[in-house]
Amino acid sequence: MKICVLPGDGIGPEITAEAVRVIEALDLKFELEEALLGGAAVDATGDPYPDATRKLAREADAVLLGAVGGPKWDNLPREQRPERGLLGIRKDLGLFANLRPAILYPELANASTLKPDVVSGLDILIVRELTGDIYFGQPRGIENRDGERYGFNTMHYTESEIRRIGRVAFEAARKRNKRLCSVDKMNVLETTQLWRDVMIELAPEYPDVELTHMLVDNAAMQLVRAPKQFDVMVTGNMFGDILSDEASMLTGSIGMLPSASLDANNKGLYEPSHGSAPDIAGKGVANPLATILSAAMMLRYTFNNEAAAARVETAVKKVLAQGYRTGDIYEPGTTKVGTKQMGDAVLAAL
Ligand code: NAD
Repeated sequence: MKICVLPGDGIGPEITAEAVRVIEALDLKFELEEALLGGAAVDATGDPYPDATRKLAREADAVLLGAVGGPKWDNLPREQRPERGLLGIRKDLGLFANLRPAILYPELANASTLKPDVVSGLDILIVRELTGDIYFGQPRGIENRDGERYGFNTMHYTESEIRRIGRVAFEAARKRNKRLCSVDKMNVLETTQLWRDVMIELAPEYPDVELTHMLVDNAAMQLVRAPKQFDVMVTGNMFGDILSDEASMLTGSIGMLPSASLDANNKGLYEPSHGSAPDIAGKGVANPLATILSAAMMLRYTFNNEAAAARVETAVKKVLAQGYRTGDIYEPGTTKVGTKQMGDAVLAAL
């Protein structure tokens, strides 16, 4: 069981170090190897996704990533920008399924802009298709037609693309509360009528999962009205882009949000949903919990070790209940700690 660790830039090295300590403490005989990605890789090799990293990432069963980017690299030519490394590795590994949980621990209910009773105890998972849809559809462009500029994009999905993301979502629902809501716009868009049809065709293979459907405009409303009605939501690339950001902000705390991107064999790239936070990099104050929770997702989805994943998540809940907080989630009356002390607290809770 091989894990490729890519600390990246900014706070990346600080937060991944804590997640690595947690993984090692589980004593599950993982082989961990580190490589460069993003700005750190550009500085060392001129390439944001160097060959050595590509080789390691391809060989590994899973990749744990911190974050990439920062002002130092903002003015480089496009092909040398740190984000190119991120897009490069996602494409190279064929990661088509993006899983983003939005969990609001009761202790952090005040961090949300919504009323605590609406969001406290929230635990939903958004499964977003990542490699198709209108974001990649051809033809696309801006042209001059009949004397004016004309912009166009193409939305499309094949049934096999829908089926494979559907399967990921049904499987994920099986590991949770067994309710799956598929989000589409079938009343207007044919592509998403096909989406709904394929989801309905898949359902008999998962008789233990309850499948429902919702139009995307209603889903956007329901997420802020009564988000706790959802367990797992599955949707296409564009709707998923928007809904997963909306859902993550229900929690109000960016330092707490993990994510996973999977291929067809459950190989995955696991990373916090936040960026490299250059404003606090090197200060030892970043919240490592999103990265630690990403490692828990790795245990669940790539290594199929539910017990170890739950153990890490329970440890995180425990440190929050004990009152430990990094600066981003601090409230008066709690104990403010730095990155390493938060890691220490999680290890102690484990
Ligand atoms: P950001 O998520 O890095 O930071 C936004 C704000 O949240 C900052 O104030 C930061 O200090 C805070 N924050 C983020 N993570 C935190 C943590 N773990 N603990 C405490 N506070 C935290 O977003 P940004 O400022 O828009 O982007 C900074 C850089 O990160 C840019 O170069 C951007 O391109 C890059 N970025 C990378 C990724 C990625 O690697 N997946 C994602 C988003 C942004």
